Amino acid sequence: MPEVPLRIYPDPILKQPTEEVTSFDSELKRLLGDMVDTMYANRGIGLAAPQVGVSKRITVIDIQEEGSELIELINPQITASSGNTSSEEGCLSIPDFRDTIKRAERVTVEAEDPSGEPFQIEAEGMLAICLQHEIDHLDGVLFIDRLSRLKREMFRKWFRKQQGS
Ligand code: ZN
Repeated sequence: MPEVPLRIYPDPILKQPTEEVTSFDSELKRLLGDMVDTMYANRGIGLAAPQVGVSKRITVIDIQEEGSELIELINPQITASSGNTSSEEGCLSIPDFRDTIKRAERVTVEAEDPSGEPFQIEAEGMLAICLQHEIDHLDGVLFIDRLSRLKREMFRKWFRKQQGS
């Protein structure tokens, strides 16, 4: 299946809240295949549908640690979270920029699989951070939106410089 071009900041689709998925059909499975291929081709550990130009509540994650596996989440919701952690994040849609983001340490996520079967994940560590980052995408929120005002100003300066060069 083909790799799809990535939508890059400040593409407006990245700021749009996505629509819930209601049909678990072959079109959804094709889209998931494209998203998985695009994630791996770009060496990402997660990808949300708006990043490939589709404003739907879908994300794929593979943190590529020992024992981890590919997770396909349709209509995911964080139903519980606890603790605090911060770590350096980046995003395939904001190339070359990384910064430290505060997140919950543990999350519970409810979602549906590609066949529409509900499932639940309890995660901590890298997977918990990745789930929060990707589910933010589905709400039109980017990791830079979670920076302090001062750091967000630094990002804007950095971005203007990038655009100019
Ligand atoms: Zn991202």
